[in-house]
Amino acid sequence: MNFERIREKLNILADAAKYDVSCSSSGSKRKNTTKGLGDSSGMGICHSYTEDGRCISLLKILLTNHCIFDCAYCVSRKSNDIKRAGFKIQEVVDLTINFYRRNYIEGLFLSSGIFSSPDYTMERLIAVAKKLRLEENFNGYIHLKSIPGCSDELMREAGLYADRLSINIEIPTVSGLKLLAPEKDHKDFIKPIEKVKNEIIQYQADKKLIKNTPVYAPAGQSTQMIVGATGESDKDIMYSAVHYYSTYKMKRVYYSGYVPVLHDERLPALGTEVPMLRENRLYQTDWLLRFYGFDVRELLNNQHPNLDIDIDPKLSWALRNMNLFPVDVNKADKRMLARIPGLGMLSVNKILNARKYRRLNWENLKAIGIAMNRAKYFIVCDSKDWEHKDLEPAHIKSMILQSSQSKYQKMYNKQLRLFN
Ligand code: SF4
Repeated sequence: MNFERIREKLNILADAAKYDVSCSSSGSKRKNTTKGLGDSSGMGICHSYTEDGRCISLLKILLTNHCIFDCAYCVSRKSNDIKRAGFKIQEVVDLTINFYRRNYIEGLFLSSGIFSSPDYTMERLIAVAKKLRLEENFNGYIHLKSIPGCSDELMREAGLYADRLSINIEIPTVSGLKLLAPEKDHKDFIKPIEKVKNEIIQYQADKKLIKNTPVYAPAGQSTQMIVGATGESDKDIMYSAVHYYSTYKMKRVYYSGYVPVLHDERLPALGTEVPMLRENRLYQTDWLLRFYGFDVRELLNNQHPNLDIDIDPKLSWALRNMNLFPVDVNKADKRMLARIPGLGMLSVNKILNARKYRRLNWENLKAIGIAMNRAKYFIVCDSKDWEHKDLEPAHIKSMILQSSQSKYQKMYNKQLRLFN
């Protein structure tokens, strides 16, 4: 093996893969039943993220950054003058096994530029996973990218060896995709997603009847959307995410702020990166939709098409709906408790449990661990030492921002001084 060449390929192809954030390794239950290598259930997989939120727990590489397509937003586009490289199938297998044995990684995240054809590329991705499973007896986590436009048969095979499959929608709207990747057809993304969804349902149903039915993509499928490459609002992005969650049973939708690395008139100028906070606000919204019972239309609509940057989406919603507050924490149902700013679901469950035994006051709520600097404006309890004073939403917002440790406090204070 030429180690220098492998190192060079690794540099190029790991760097090219860093723009893909859809690599969470949660949700798989693949067991090591054959005394093989790895175990993707529980301890075998850890979640590790770089400071900017990108996952590093897996060997995350492209099979190649050669590509026959020319998507404007992609660093691997064929017209981009960059160093190209490609791994052989056996090289990826060897790297994965060697890194796993050294405890560097917990699994493999393998994507690829499209070379020759979607089917040819997908076949080679599957070949890596198949070799790892069948020849190396590798039971660690494998996340394969699905290649847009590949055949149903290959998608069926991929799910037999991968824990998770994902296909990146990339641009949240059909019109945006047409503008930036005119060679691509939206249907080529949807077809494999639909196929994987149906196979998951089918294999799960078969498993109930026939015990030794193999597992199919046990960690489900995910997708990624690029934020800020085109002019989509947060509403466009989140409505699209909701569509993928509900129609295709996605495990996760990831949001990746566009990083301008290429000059193209269709794209934002170099040096105008999407603020990391916009990504964070989208993830917070996603969380509220999946775990807090919010409907996307409550958080984003025609009157409010973009998320506030200086406050989180739940606080923003509450300030627009002050008629629903204050909430009595000793009486409110779970749904309404979950809507109080400063209360996570853990605190909500603690409140529900604690109030079986006594009426709760501020001291009890503090002991439960709720963020009082936000919550106190929205609740009443068995205490009189804070009275809701019909404060205006703007006033509440300014007091919360001033009392919080937020890094935006400085920015906000500066704005206030302008009006003194
Ligand atoms: S097909 Fe994929 S790898 Fe190729 S240019 Fe488009 S986004 Fe990049």
